[in-house]
Amino acid sequence: MIVAIDGPSGSGKSSVAREIARRCGLTYLDTGAMYRSVAYVCLERGVDPDDGDAVAEIARQIAIDFVADGEGQRVIANGEDVTAQIRTPEVERAVSPVSANPRVREVMVALQRSAGERGDVIAEGRDIGTVVFPRAELKVFLSASPEARARRRAVQRGGGNLATGQSVAVDAADEQRILDDLVRRDEYDSSRETSPLRPAEDAHLIDSSSLGFEEVVTNILSLSPELSARAEGRLS
Ligand code: C5P
Repeated sequence: MIVAIDGPSGSGKSSVAREIARRCGLTYLDTGAMYRSVAYVCLERGVDPDDGDAVAEIARQIAIDFVADGEGQRVIANGEDVTAQIRTPEVERAVSPVSANPRVREVMVALQRSAGERGDVIAEGRDIGTVVFPRAELKVFLSASPEARARRRAVQRGGGNLATGQSVAVDAADEQRILDDLVRRDEYDSSRETSPLRPAEDAHLIDSSSLGFEEVVTNILSLSPELSARAEGRLS
């Protein structure tokens, strides 16, 4: 089965998709990490993220692997562990033009589809339900107010996790910077010509601004009999 989870940055897609993957025995595919890896390799090699030809060449040559690591997974790009490096503000700035490049998207979408052919997958990103897996059995578009999303990211950066109730004090200026960056990336992702961020027509829309993590997970599981059966161990 294929489950598609789309939505803007910081909507909680990653934590939710990872948890559903764990409970339901699906492979978790973090497509944002793939675009981030391309952006990281560009920066490493001194390639301008706006240089369409050079960036497309890097995308064509890159090898990206996800390796299970306890509860999470590590991201390996061209043999290098880039799990932490792809989350820096530099990569976050470079990833918008990289992911708006249609030739980069072509390569990434092909890699994502081949992962879908290999087994049961829950993929999260921006265009999973609209472009990558338009025939997914279940599509969810997860959103939240920009303020709620910025707060979650700020807490995450401070070592906490609102999804699991671990709150930490956050610096107001940091939170504002994160909010500005989220709004900038949302605008870029929603207005680009190739695969703009938008819900598929048959996606279930969930606004997680005032929902707890468990509520979102339970809500999604209840949308699909197959998913609920998997979560209850009636199917695997
Ligand atoms: O989800 P995450 O924040 O890790 O994604 C990083 C960036 O990758 C997004 O801001 C977006 O530009 C791009 N992306 C995309 N299509 C996807 C997943 C991510 O364009 N399916």
